Amino acid sequence: MKKAVSLILSAVLILCVSSVAFAGDAGCGCGFSPVIYVGPLGCTPIVKDAGKDSEQTLWKIDTKFLLSKLGEAMPGISRALLTRDADLLGSAIAGFVKDCFGDLALDSEGNSKPDVTTPELNIPQGDRHGPDSDYYFDYDFRLDPYEHADRLHEFIDKVKALTGHDSVKLKCSSMGGVVLSAYLDKYGYDGIDVIICRCCPLLGTAVAGEAFCGKIELNSTSLTRYGEDAIPFLETGFADDFIEGTLYALLDTLKVTGVIDGICALGDRLITKAGKKVFDEALIPIFGTLPGIWAFVPEEYFDEAVDFMKLPETGGLHDKVFAYRKAMANIKNNLRSAKDSGVKTCIICGYNVQRTPLVTLWKSTSDGTVDTKYASLGAVCGDVKEPLTNDYLKSLKNGDYLSPDNMIDASSCALPECTWFVRNWLHCNGNAGIDRLFNLVMTADEVSVTSFEEFPQFLEADDDADTVYPVTGAPDDASNLREHPSYLNFIRYIFSLIKSFFERFG
Ligand SMILES: [Zn+2]
Repeated sequence: MKKAVSLILSAVLILCVSSVAFAGDAGCGCGFSPVIYVGPLGCTPIVKDAGKDSEQTLWKIDTKFLLSKLGEAMPGISRALLTRDADLLGSAIAGFVKDCFGDLALDSEGNSKPDVTTPELNIPQGDRHGPDSDYYFDYDFRLDPYEHADRLHEFIDKVKALTGHDSVKLKCSSMGGVVLSAYLDKYGYDGIDVIICRCCPLLGTAVAGEAFCGKIELNSTSLTRYGEDAIPFLETGFADDFIEGTLYALLDTLKVTGVIDGICALGDRLITKAGKKVFDEALIPIFGTLPGIWAFVPEEYFDEAVDFMKLPETGGLHDKVFAYRKAMANIKNNLRSAKDSGVKTCIICGYNVQRTPLVTLWKSTSDGTVDTKYASLGAVCGDVKEPLTNDYLKSLKNGDYLSPDNMIDASSCALPECTWFVRNWLHCNGNAGIDRLFNLVMTADEVSVTSFEEFPQFLEADDDADTVYPVTGAPDDASNLREHPSYLNFIRYIFSLIKSFFERFG
């Protein structure tokens, strides 16, 4: 009997000890696992000669440094433009790019120069966590995404130990999705309970694909629209509404009078000739050595880009660039399995913003930086500012995932039931409405595009009001102004009037 009692007692003792050892949540008990924010490109400074007198921030490049180098380059660039000398122009621009960004280049093994470092990288500290507090994971964007995956793995372990939780939430912004892709491919989704992808180039971005294939062109429509869409957000400050309005007006006047077409025609010829020199002397030797930038190249551009960017056929750099192709190829399946195993998942992307000009694929609808089809893992999209074609719409068997403005069909996405689309949302622009959706995603028992009445699958961003509304139909600048009166919506309305006037009578 005594023996039986002592056996039971020791069993109870072992159970007590092991429950303390294994049940991490017992360490906190708040019910909200910590959030790790996986930041975008450029989330930490890259510095040359850190701590020395000669210290120089290479990224984000110091404006004063950039302007001083531009000042040195301007006489050459001006002379080249005046004489339309493509060779001189190419050399002047290549020299300027090398002066500003040359030290960012990696070696043939894909490693940084020893004197170029990221001295401010975060290490998780403290146990503060909750819906309004996250741990910021930053990284050197140039390097192999799998190096970041390894560091993120350690980072997650540290956060778990600090907070006493046995799982974390990953909120990834833009390039953070590249880190996530490598992470899921190498480590899986154990110990992750929420994944949020905000404007992430999960399947790349056309601007990287086209740039790495040398497909550069100036196009007047894209240039004008880019000005209209992006300028309001490039600067913030007191006098901006006035400046924005003036720039809008200037761009549209130049467009209507054909001046931009003239500049583009001239620019295009020069760009083709000078561009080759800039690529050969600066862009390929610098940006062609960065596995992090290679991770933005979509699959359909990759083979041509390897050739055009003269990627070495062997060595560490080659291996790192090729290794990430597996992470990109597997991201759809990896997210699908995570979701099917109970990881609450939210992929959210912008559409209907004019993407960066200078590339031939300027009609691809996007958030201005990342194409909607790549960020959404496979939506079929109309051209920017256009609905899907009539033929496509007719061929649709059901419209369950069709946007009310007929611009997006999400049925072909990897996770159509967990992918949100925000019309007119500029890449990663802060928006309190979208943050509210994230809070719901992080706290709800079930997450899908039908879970939250306020946040259906298709939303429209109103950045002035700092919120989002459900999309109910095609963009209509007049009713938009009536419902959400703001200076920007007024400008949009005025220009829609001018455009329709010229379309009719111009
Ligand atoms: Zn807690």
